[in-house]
Amino acid sequence: MRRISLPVRLTLPFRILEEALDLLFPPRCAGCGRPGAFWCAACAAAVIPIMPPVCPGCGIPWPEGDRCPTCRADPPRLAGIRSACLYRGPLRRAVHRLKFHGRYAVARALAPLMADGWTRFALEADLLIPVPAHRGRERQRGYNQAALLAEALAEHLSLPVHPEALRRVRATPSQVGLDHLARRANVQGVFQADPRWIAGRRVAVIDDVCTSGATLEACAAALYQAGAVTVWGFTLARVILRRSLSIPLGGAYGADRAGTEH
Ligand SMILES: [Zn+2]
Ligand SMILES: [Zn+2]
Repeated sequence: MRRISLPVRLTLPFRILEEALDLLFPPRCAGCGRPGAFWCAACAAAVIPIMPPVCPGCGIPWPEGDRCPTCRADPPRLAGIRSACLYRGPLRRAVHRLKFHGRYAVARALAPLMADGWTRFALEADLLIPVPAHRGRERQRGYNQAALLAEALAEHLSLPVHPEALRRVRATPSQVGLDHLARRANVQGVFQADPRWIAGRRVAVIDDVCTSGATLEACAAALYQAGAVTVWGFTLARVILRRSLSIPLGGAYGADRAGTEH
């Protein structure tokens, strides 16, 4: 396999700006707002990691040896989706912060959670690709939180990140209020992948949060079309909807409140 060189996505001016921001605005915890660090020990302790066993398809906590009803009814094209932690409490606030007031330092503070999840689920890939942001949205916010997380995770995994390999070719209408199949139809043909980066490679698509997995599925469809060998979806956090749990899981998990569609 040809080695792909690591492109410097976060340009020097961006890094200098980040360092200047650190001096002007000392770190505050992305989870609770307390000054001192971008991610404090108390918030770190409150994170609920997703542990095996999970559904081999969508990666929600699920008993060993079976797929969840959603994946049985409609098997994903992805090799699978895995998420590091539940989208709850301080992590949920941190993801919001990354999305709307994000800084690379926050992504970097959260990256160890992803790196641990990656190891826990024994994932393998040749390259990471962040889910491309909606152009308008990205411009509004000034950054793409999936790209920040992919870059920060790549530092742990020593893998290349190739945001240029996948692009959004049309805007996605809102996913809110759509069921699983409608979400998939909604994002059909939204992405296009470049075979030059993808053909013959094992790809992991990175995002901040996974709800239905429809966006990751649409990315996978484009990546397989461009010749990817396998495509995994991997996210920092996971929304677990009540309706996806037809059996009680108990323990630390349980379902998120209704209306937490992401
Ligand atoms: Zn905190
Ligand atoms: Zn499943």
